Amino acid sequence: MSAVAFPIAVKAANGCQDAPVLRERGQHEVFCGLTGIIWLHRKIQDAFFLVVGSRTCAHLIQSAAGVMIFAEPRFATAIIDERDLAGLADANAELDRVVNQLLARRPEIKLLFLVGSCPSEVIKLDLSRAASRLSAQHSPSVRVLNYSGSGIETTFTQGEDACLASMVPELPVAAEDSAPELLVVGTLADVVEDQFIRLLGAMGIERVRFFPPRRASDQAPVGPHTRLLLAQPFLADTARALQARGAQLLSAPFPLGIEGTRAWLQAAATAFDVTPAIFEAAVAAPTARASAALARAKLHLEGKSIFFFPDSQLEIPLARFLSRELGMTLAEVGTPYLHRQHMAQELAMLPEGTFLSEGQHVENQLERCRAARPDMVVCGLGLANPLESEGMTTKWSIELVFTPIQGFDQAGDLAELFTRPLVRRLRLAA
Ligand code: SF4
Repeated sequence: MSAVAFPIAVKAANGCQDAPVLRERGQHEVFCGLTGIIWLHRKIQDAFFLVVGSRTCAHLIQSAAGVMIFAEPRFATAIIDERDLAGLADANAELDRVVNQLLARRPEIKLLFLVGSCPSEVIKLDLSRAASRLSAQHSPSVRVLNYSGSGIETTFTQGEDACLASMVPELPVAAEDSAPELLVVGTLADVVEDQFIRLLGAMGIERVRFFPPRRASDQAPVGPHTRLLLAQPFLADTARALQARGAQLLSAPFPLGIEGTRAWLQAAATAFDVTPAIFEAAVAAPTARASAALARAKLHLEGKSIFFFPDSQLEIPLARFLSRELGMTLAEVGTPYLHRQHMAQELAMLPEGTFLSEGQHVENQLERCRAARPDMVVCGLGLANPLESEGMTTKWSIELVFTPIQGFDQAGDLAELFTRPLVRRLRLAA
């Protein structure tokens, strides 16, 4: 691989790469990692997620994923009750019974995740041993893995990171003489994946895999030939596990908006020796379509201010998109965790002087938000209603994880997610 240097504008700028960051610790308002099951179970179509938790965990998942009422869901909760908590029942025997029943009834399941929760951690139920035991019993037709979705000291997108990281040791070892292969990591909607496959194909990049895959059996071999491109910014553990197996991380921003998508695709193009002419030919038409869509949204958003509470870990890429492509001003950009290496190009593109914060002390941050009186606030569900009642316009950050927003053809939809609440508030005020 040669290092073809495309003229990536972001590399010239320094933006907020060295900017000071306010680090806060205190009460934080976030969902737990179980939430990831809602989009992961749609993605891996022959997987099943068995939460080992309480009735609270069951309610969280069922109410958040209530759309599944017409189909047999691919998630459930094995309830830990008072007898288990008091140590009066053998929780392992109970779990084996539930899993055996489930797998006998649902032969289409090929990959079963035992998902840990706060209660399973409280009673110190060893789900990794349970997964090994059950895997040995049910392999080769079913693999059983485990990860934790517990809400203690985490944020909700870490559930996906923990899930994907649990799958990495299972991936086969690539042959030493394998040709380079692109591995796109992070859940994307199928429609977005298909668009990227077409765009990369138009550049001549045919060896492309996505992780997580749509089918559990589609396991990408990993090794030094693997070129790892992150599609989501919250996958630190997964990326580390893949790099430990030899995969080479491609430095790129995230594929949100025109700039982010171009630079993300360009990182792949550079790694696969695609010429600038071929790259431009592939991206010209979708870039033009996205520009037209963004021009309409800019009429509503330009000059408006926005405040991000830390929640999804998408905050920095979203702030970069909204400020650079739609002319919004950034009152504060909060993120639960700041991974400087994965965010390097995003930080370089943020306007100098952007107020960045990491972690949360919710009362202090609410004070700053009230003082700033932004035109829009991006926050978790728990803060949205109180802030709306104070007259602020809010956007639920979780919606940005559920909705297909990556790529050129989704740039307009992404912008619309921000115009809609503003337009609604204007109508209410009229
Ligand atoms: S895992 Fe913990 S935080 Fe999440 S729903 Fe269950 S009890 Fe609540």
